[in-house]
Amino acid sequence: MNNPCLGCGACCAYYRCTFYWREADDETPGGVPVGLTEDATPFRRAMSGTNQNDPRCVALVGEIGVSAHCSIYACRSTTCRAFVPSYFDGQRHEECDKARMKHGLAPLRPEEWTPERDDPKKPRRPRRPRRPRRIRRAA
Ligand code: SF4
Ligand code: SF4
Repeated sequence: MNNPCLGCGACCAYYRCTFYWREADDETPGGVPVGLTEDATPFRRAMSGTNQNDPRCVALVGEIGVSAHCSIYACRSTTCRAFVPSYFDGQRHEECDKARMKHGLAPLRPEEWTPERDDPKKPRRPRRPRRPRRIRRAA
């Protein structure tokens, strides 16, 4: 499936991203790298860079609206995992639209999630040759 988030990254430079402090890797092996976080409340950490005016998460790599991705994707917080892009699930999501509009990007449209196989420019796999049909012999 096409993933329009890879050409976006706007939400990671719009919202404050906080999560339960125990999700960080000083408490949970394989968790969010604690060095990329800061204390937000007694029980929550924030991704560094998001807890300020004009936020941008320190884990975001690339140029917003062109090519951007999360450098800690596999160990991002539950807050990041719960953020749903518009029309990923067939529904519009205002939080996604708002973040994109703040960065001058139009809201996603349903067709931006079109499966790659429907992309006319994508080369198709060659068809497998058909197996020869069995010939039934008369008894
Ligand atoms: S703002 Fe929406 S489209 Fe952009 S990266 Fe976030 S979820 Fe994806
Ligand atoms: S950790 Fe990754 S997904 Fe979460 S806000 Fe930062 S860049 Fe975005």
